[in-house]
Formats: sequence, structure tokens, C-alpha cells
Amino acid sequence: MSDGSFPGGPARRAGFFIFLFLPPFPLFSVPLCALCVKNLLFNFPTSYYPSPLPPTYPTPMFPEIERTLFTKDQIAARVKELAQEIVRDLETDLAKDDHSLQDENRVIIIPIMTGAMIFVADLIRELPVKLSLGLTSVRSYPGASISSKGAHLESDLPDNLTGKHIVVLDDILDSGQTLALVKAIILKQNPASLRLGVMLDKQTPRTIDVKCDYVGFQIPDEFVVGYGLDYDGYYRNHPEIVILNQNAIPKR
Ligand code: 5GP
Ligand code: MG
Repeated sequence: MSDGSFPGGPARRAGFFIFLFLPPFPLFSVPLCALCVKNLLFNFPTSYYPSPLPPTYPTPMFPEIERTLFTKDQIAARVKELAQEIVRDLETDLAKDDHSLQDENRVIIIPIMTGAMIFVADLIRELPVKLSLGLTSVRSYPGASISSKGAHLESDLPDNLTGKHIVVLDDILDSGQTLALVKAIILKQNPASLRLGVMLDKQTPRTIDVKCDYVGFQIPDEFVVGYGLDYDGYYRNHPEIVILNQNAIPKR
């Protein structure tokens, strides 16, 4: 004690502090219980509740965005509707060969990379279907282009499509060359069915006639970015479909 230590040594000191927190000793145990109850009531993980928080990105997310064509909510609602259309058609197609949506090895979704990445990621989570993915990559707007330079396959298509139900999905239909190219290659493998879908259908004259079974939105003839679509590799992460202002796109 004379050296300032607790009487009886460290073990007694630990015992004393534990005693202070025991339920019959209200000095600390009452505030402690109150704290626990408060945490339980108010600090519950927020993901269990609909979030009242504003968007986590500033609006607009990038200063060079001129205007929004479709918001996150509009996109999400339309993706759900497209998913329902796809499920209905797949159900009908599968029934023709005595299969169901849950049968293995029947349905292959082919996203055209990179633009369709976010659209397809959202869409397939709305499909209660036993499906697999077969990626392919087509380039038609190389680098800082804002008009098609002709579609070029950048990676092989899956080679196991015979007898399967195929849904090809792209971000946007413009001249039609990308989807026409992919469609022609897939048809050579004799799939059981082939359907094409896009998030956006740009109102431009097609250089090739190609019909889409699923279209999210029709848009005017403008260059759009966001929700997977890029300009020179950027803006894919913008959660809305937007138009850039002219200063962001150098004049050629
Ligand atoms: P198409 O081959 O039909 O002319 O063009 C389709 C492809 O061109 C899409 O997969 C997309 O990569 C690109 N594309 C067409 N229009 C736009 C657009 O407005 N914005 C962006 N970012 N890409 C586009
Ligand atoms: Mg593309």
C-alpha cells in the first residue's frame, strides 16, 4: 500500500472493479444496461431498415454531366420489367422442350462487354432461372469515339450454344452492327432459341436491320454515358444514364 498499489495486489484490484459492475451494485451496472438497451434500439445495423439517407454521390457525380436521361429508380424499375418479360419468354420456350426454368444447362445469357456489364449484373439478379453466363466483347466505339467505327469481335463467343436458349444483352442499340455480328455467329451454332435485348435503343437509322426482343428505353440520337456506358473508358460507374456537356467531348 505504501508504494501506492492496490491493497491485496492486482487480483484483488481486478475483483474490485468486476464487483462495481455486478447487477446488485447500481453505480455502474445501471448506466451500462441503459447503454446496451440504447444500442439495441438505435444502433441496429442500418441495412435492416430502408435508408433515409440521400444518394452517396454528389449530384451530378461528375461536373461535366449536362443532364440526366434516366435516374437510378427509373432504371431499376425498367430492369425489373424486362426481367419479367424474359422470364415469361424463357418459360414458354423451355416448356416446348419439356424443361423448366430450374433445369440445368438450358439457358445461357451472353452480355456484350464492357458496356452491358452493369445492366446484366442488375438484370440477372431479377431472373429466377438456372442460367449460366457466356461473355463476349465487341468494340465499335474505340477510345474517344462518339460514333460507330464498325463492330469488331474482341473475344470468341462461347462454343457450347447448340440446343440452348440464348439471350444476348447489350447496353445500347445504335447502327445495329454489334448485335447483327453477334447474332450471326450464334445462329451458326443452332441454339434452341435466340433473343436479343438492350437497355437503350437509340433512334438512329440502322445500317443493319436487327430487331430487339427486349428494349429498356428509346432514346434520341445523342451520345450517352453512365450505367456501364463509357466515353473514352470513363463514366461507366455513374449510376444514371446521362448526357455529357459539349466541353467534355472535344470537337473533331
Ligand atoms: P452499334 O454497333 O449498334 O452501332 O453500336 C452499339 C455499340 O456502340 C454499343 O455496344 C456501345 O458500345 C456503343 N454505343 C453506341 N451508342 C453509344 C452511346 O451513345 N454511348 C456510348 N457510350 N456507347 C455507345
Ligand atoms: Mg458495346
